[in-house]
Amino acid sequence: MSTSPATWPNPLLWNNVLYIVSTPIGNLKDITLRALEVLKSVDLIAAEDTRHTGVLCKEYGITARLTSYFDHNESGKARELVNLLKEGRNIALVSDAGTPGINDPGYRLVSLAKAEGVAMAVIPGACAAIAALSLSALPTDRFAFYGFLPVKPGARRKKILQAAEAGGTAIFYESPHRLLKTLKDIAEVMPEQIITVARELTKKFEERLDGPAGTLLDHFTRHKPLGEFVILFHCATAN
Ligand code: SAM
Repeated sequence: MSTSPATWPNPLLWNNVLYIVSTPIGNLKDITLRALEVLKSVDLIAAEDTRHTGVLCKEYGITARLTSYFDHNESGKARELVNLLKEGRNIALVSDAGTPGINDPGYRLVSLAKAEGVAMAVIPGACAAIAALSLSALPTDRFAFYGFLPVKPGARRKKILQAAEAGGTAIFYESPHRLLKTLKDIAEVMPEQIITVARELTKKFEERLDGPAGTLLDHFTRHKPLGEFVILFHCATAN
């Protein structure tokens, strides 16, 4: 049986807890009341980039100490943080944006905490993949999240085809400087497929575009891709 203070009456008051806290994906107002309460009350916030999280803390008057926890120091830092948790500290894990562990650091700390019997609570909130899915108007009953596509063209095309064959709604993250290449690949391997591109969700230039990848490729060739992107498409479910 696992220990989770989420089922306790008020997890905010317990010690030795690792809180996994979602933060906004752009619009700073997209933070929950619980997230603010937790971030204000913990002993330490483990952040992907302390300067980035510092902006959020400043906005909401959060004064907890920040320590960095990112890809290249994850293993050693996870051990250090778990030791602190076992000594009685409360720690909040955040990433630069959205949900920790979703294409962001988090997995190693959470799995080590689990292995060592540390209590955990999740404070859910923004996630670009889920925000894009709900905006896409694509079927939501079966979906798969693939993160970023491979950099190498052959592997990228293979992944796109695998996602199509798997069926359901496929969700990918994409960076602005790789968007055109990815749209070109999708247009080549699935010219008829309607895809959705969700850009800059929750921000000033939020937009959703739908159409064959070739049409969206034309659009973004004329309008330089700027900001953050999620690409989605739906294929009939394979039996
Ligand atoms: N942990 C984050 C989450 O929960 O969504 C994802 C972090 S991942 C390093 C960053 C990628 O997420 C971006 O390159 C983009 O593909 C996607 N993303 C993040 N914020 C976004 C936004 N506001 N609009 C569209 N895509 C976004």
